[in-house]
Amino acid sequence: MACTVCFFSNTYQNLLKCRSFGSDSFEKKLLDYKSFYLFELKNLKSIKDCKCTFYKEGDVYIKWTDGFLRNLQSNMKTVEDTFDALIKIYYNYISKSNKDALESIWQFLEYNSLLKEEASPLLANRLLFRARIKKEKLNKDDILEYFHIPFNKRRSVKNQRFSISGQPMLYLSSSVFAVEKEMELDVNKLCIAAFLPHKIIHKKFYQVHNPIYDVIVRVLPVVCAAGSKIDYFNDDVAPNHKTIIPDIKKSILFQILTFPTHKKGTFIEEYVLPQMLTTALLNHKFNGIVFNSTKNYADISNADIQAEYDLNVAFFVNYYVFTKKYDEDLLDSFIYFLPEKRQLLRLIIEKIIESTRQVVHYISRNKSNRQERVESINEKIMDVLCLSGQKGNVYNAPLANAKRYLENLQTAKIKGRNYFDTNEGRLELEFYHRMVDELEQRLKKS
Ligand SMILES: [Zn+2]
Repeated sequence: MACTVCFFSNTYQNLLKCRSFGSDSFEKKLLDYKSFYLFELKNLKSIKDCKCTFYKEGDVYIKWTDGFLRNLQSNMKTVEDTFDALIKIYYNYISKSNKDALESIWQFLEYNSLLKEEASPLLANRLLFRARIKKEKLNKDDILEYFHIPFNKRRSVKNQRFSISGQPMLYLSSSVFAVEKEMELDVNKLCIAAFLPHKIIHKKFYQVHNPIYDVIVRVLPVVCAAGSKIDYFNDDVAPNHKTIIPDIKKSILFQILTFPTHKKGTFIEEYVLPQMLTTALLNHKFNGIVFNSTKNYADISNADIQAEYDLNVAFFVNYYVFTKKYDEDLLDSFIYFLPEKRQLLRLIIEKIIESTRQVVHYISRNKSNRQERVESINEKIMDVLCLSGQKGNVYNAPLANAKRYLENLQTAKIKGRNYFDTNEGRLELEFYHRMVDELEQRLKKS
């Protein structure tokens, strides 16, 4: 049996969800998942007794998670009710009508105050990537090729988790690695462009996430390491025993919305609830959704726990002028970077070299190793941050996000190889270099 920390990880929850794949309908899978979840939750053990290494975070951490576990186990009714409410909404959709189901998801979100789960615009204020499959007819030097599907081709917009067939949406990912996962293709088969949102301060994003795991794994260890004497039963610091009810509801909502697809048909059962959420958000004037990828990232290791390489941002697209093929205001809200010709060539050459097992040292901006390359970008970021500060902090958020991102992945490995030595990592470094150069130019001109 798992401990509290292991149980709330997405990997563990995905295992529980996949155990329901024997059932032949999504409503049964949800019921199975609910019973596995409740059974495991009742029997969770302290991190002191688990094989994982979280006990090393220290006594304050252990005491906090133990308090949390006891509190969790005395709130089983909330867990059960949340599952039942979501299962009922899905059941309404398939057995009654769209309208009924939409009203009920709306009520569920409002009643539980879950529509207030607004993400900070800063979360999406980072370099994001989008890929197209390399094909001869792709005009890779045209940014519109990487933008949303044009309105006059909406017939080719397929169902996606948070978007409805026929309604274009722009999906961007926080790393080249995530783009590869989403496309299920190697980076060599893709053309990749990068987008930096720069007019998003007034945009509203909804964050679909696992708040419990974020707190236990991403926040608490840092707080404990800083020597804070936090106590789960102290009301002054959140999360605490009083915030557990909304946290558990958000966490279950996240798990159900990211339920992996088992068999994809014309109608995808697992997408019903996420798409209903999208409709509710559109009605509430949100501009997009930020969510963690549902793909398997087991081949990445040693990344800092804070590293956000698996974020997806879905931007809602507005269709308001019949004569326009694209949402031009949305495009205008990005600074974008097309693939560079030498980059594409380099990837091809590297592939040939690798296949003949020769060793080659990639020289990036006169720096010969990964460590130096990352450090050189970070030094440059510090300079440009300073410049940005003098000009009224215009680009502080993307620069600070970039610095943190690169640092958090510096020790990461993909299948044993250093992250920034892989084709994916190198491509990212190249884009980050270009982003910092571009922001510097803009600041100097302003
Ligand atoms: Zn554990």
